[in-house]
Amino acid sequence: MITTMFARTIHRRFSFHHSSISLSNSLRGNNSHSPTNLLPREMSMETERIVDRLKSSGLLQTKGLIGGKWTDAYDGKTIEVNNPASGDVIASVACMGERETKDAISSAYDAFSHWSKLTANDRSSRLRNWYNLLLQHKEELGQLITLEQGKPLKEAIGEVGYGASFIEFFAEEAKRIYGDIIPSTLSDRRLFVLKQPVGVVAAITPWNFPLAMIARKVGPALACGCTVVIKPSELTPLTALAAAELALQSGIPPGVLNVVMGDAIKIGTALTESPQVRKITFTGSTAVGKKLMAGAADTVKKVSLELGGNAPCIVFDDADLEVAIKGSLATKFRNSGQTCVCANRILVQEGIYEKFTKAFSDAVQNLKVGNGLSEGVSQGPLINEAAVKKVESFVEDAVSKGAKLLLGGKRHSLGMSFYEPTVIGDVKNEMLIAQQEVFGPVAPVLRFKTEEEAIQIANDTNAGLAAYIFTNSIKRSWRVSEALEYGIVGVNEGLVSTEVAPFGGFKQSGLGREGSKYGMDDYLEIKYICMGNMG
Ligand code: NAP
Repeated sequence: MITTMFARTIHRRFSFHHSSISLSNSLRGNNSHSPTNLLPREMSMETERIVDRLKSSGLLQTKGLIGGKWTDAYDGKTIEVNNPASGDVIASVACMGERETKDAISSAYDAFSHWSKLTANDRSSRLRNWYNLLLQHKEELGQLITLEQGKPLKEAIGEVGYGASFIEFFAEEAKRIYGDIIPSTLSDRRLFVLKQPVGVVAAITPWNFPLAMIARKVGPALACGCTVVIKPSELTPLTALAAAELALQSGIPPGVLNVVMGDAIKIGTALTESPQVRKITFTGSTAVGKKLMAGAADTVKKVSLELGGNAPCIVFDDADLEVAIKGSLATKFRNSGQTCVCANRILVQEGIYEKFTKAFSDAVQNLKVGNGLSEGVSQGPLINEAAVKKVESFVEDAVSKGAKLLLGGKRHSLGMSFYEPTVIGDVKNEMLIAQQEVFGPVAPVLRFKTEEEAIQIANDTNAGLAAYIFTNSIKRSWRVSEALEYGIVGVNEGLVSTEVAPFGGFKQSGLGREGSKYGMDDYLEIKYICMGNMG
């Protein structure tokens, strides 16, 4: 994490001093891979047009939200948000720290007493208003996601629909927080179980799904009667702020939803140390998740963690080749490989290996790389230079240890942080690329002989989020699904996320579940009431 923060700081400083140079590069259409090609430029016409539209609709917010008020950083510091496809500086947002976070916690704490006492129907209808507004603005929100995150516009608009679906689902679930009556062991006693909101929730989210990762946390938290302090990634804060603006418009009262961004360590420390924060919900890297869990121990907070994966995608000899190619492509290359459930290792049985790698490479070759705002593009840039360097080092390691490049394997000629969709064959599970998340458009293919061997390789990792299997045997699909140490298994399907199903991991991929009826439990305390003298 220190390395990542360092790389981000360097990138930002660098960009400040060289913005004029990079503008001239962009005007020349320079596609070289020189460092200047990675520098931010002044805003392009296209970005400017979108930004103007967002400003006029009130969706381009750049300040934090504390107690219902848009607030600058107390020391006036700001942080630039860049478009990874072009280097354009989209906006400068408040760079907050400890003091702002403490105030946001106090606002959430004060708002809790009112929000938690509203009827479930009342909370539900405000959440539904929010859902409606998110959908009404899905085009603009999609453009904002593409601008700051880089994913293709179609995927970005899809993310808005997906994120909004959690708000709708939990608006409905708000009305179904049932308790229990337990038959007593004594005749003059009555035993009851109540479910109550945990209190103030801190929600820390990553850059790869700037809206959906927030919606999956804030939806159930607000439905249960909790209030929240959101800390979005410094790389993609604008979508979070736009969503917060729509939350205000939907009648969610001031203080119920607060947003602070900036210095992650200071904000994280203020959130973990505060006794007023009763729960931390985090999506991001395993390393940061562990730190937050340790930090939360002092005040014994509830903790939910959605961490990194290392998804195996197992293609058996008896699979339908077309279904396997389609599914593997979808799970590997969504968001240019930057999702926690992306296939990280494609395990192919020896009988179908040659056929699969040939057909899969042909399909990958057809993926169009470019600016996510351009028609037909399915592969946007990686989030930043540090991400490309990580991908490069993993590919280099695999090739140096005997893996074979079947397609791609280098930076894309578009420059910036674009990387060629890549397929590598003959990968071994000991290689770096199979041990850690590559988080980029690189598909490592491993060969296996037997079902037992595939299960052993698949489970040989500390991660346990999503796994995929492709087979036409019903017996095998059950057997293998049960043997995989993963929280999510896709059988003949590469896209598994939905608001109605529980999402979460085994082992070091996390704690708790998001989405579905199970997603409510993490935001509720169970209270047992024993009434005596009732005979
Ligand atoms: P990250 O570096 O862990 O960052 C995630 C969030 O934590 C960001 O808001 C970041 O802030 C913040 N953060 C960083 N250091 C912190 C600290 N010391 N205290 C408090 N907050 C801190 O992860 P990322 O690179 O953004 O996201 C990629 C990772 O997320 C991958 O491993 C991926 O698998 C995982 N992920 C998991 C799921 C899931 O559901 N399991 C979903 C999506 C992504 P700044 O960005 O401002 O530094």
